[in-house]
Amino acid sequence: MARRKYVVGNWKMNGVTASIADAQAIFAAAGDHAGVDVAICPPFTLIGAMVAAVPGAEVGGQDCHSAVSGAFTGSVAAPMLADAGASLVIVGHSERREGCGESDADVRAKAEAGLGAGLSVILCVGEPCEVRESGRAIDYVLAQIAGSVPDDFDATRLAIAYEPIWAIGTGLVPTVDDVAAMHGAIRGALAARFGGAAEEDMRLLYGGSVNGDNACELLGAGDVDGALVGGASLTAAKFLPIVAAAAKL
Ligand code: PEP
Repeated sequence: MARRKYVVGNWKMNGVTASIADAQAIFAAAGDHAGVDVAICPPFTLIGAMVAAVPGAEVGGQDCHSAVSGAFTGSVAAPMLADAGASLVIVGHSERREGCGESDADVRAKAEAGLGAGLSVILCVGEPCEVRESGRAIDYVLAQIAGSVPDDFDATRLAIAYEPIWAIGTGLVPTVDDVAAMHGAIRGALAARFGGAAEEDMRLLYGGSVNGDNACELLGAGDVDGALVGGASLTAAKFLPIVAAAAKL
């Protein structure tokens, strides 16, 4: 089965109850693009309301704890996300790897927790600016993949998002050739470790300053199956052109 295109919005720490109307508009119009899977990851506080407002929509969390329950003030466990109606969780976003000191081992444990709770997982990797400039970006990202991707999972339920840190929220993007080279290297490493399932079923998303103007080019790069989108996912006006670009590929 061919890998379906996948466009996922990461709302980060944005959105209040009134923002559910934006999600309704996004999912309603995304329905016109039957070949593209669309998901939104709002703040934890909006998951239940979004699922209730848009039945059947793919809604996810932006992080989860690796434990199922316990004395972890402020954290949310993967089974709690599932209980709230989420079907997806993002793990290893650079804002957590860098801002919260999460290691590859932490990210792997979170991915395992998400999969164990029956969620799909988007596992983020990406290099900082100085690593890109030193020419070591591919080695750096492949080391993240080796350390943070679990050993045993259904390949349809784990996607990788390549998000160069220097491109997130900055308006800077890599060249199409650099995106294709990175995605090809990630695909090769996954295929070497997991065999044909990594080629047939695992989706590789690009993330970092994707918008309606650059989506066609970035999503058209080799081995790119879709996008993880931050700032441009908050409104239908900005997000839908990206979904439409994915539908054309
Ligand atoms: C992100 O944070 O996952 C992201 C891709 O952000 P932006 O699209 O705003 O660069």
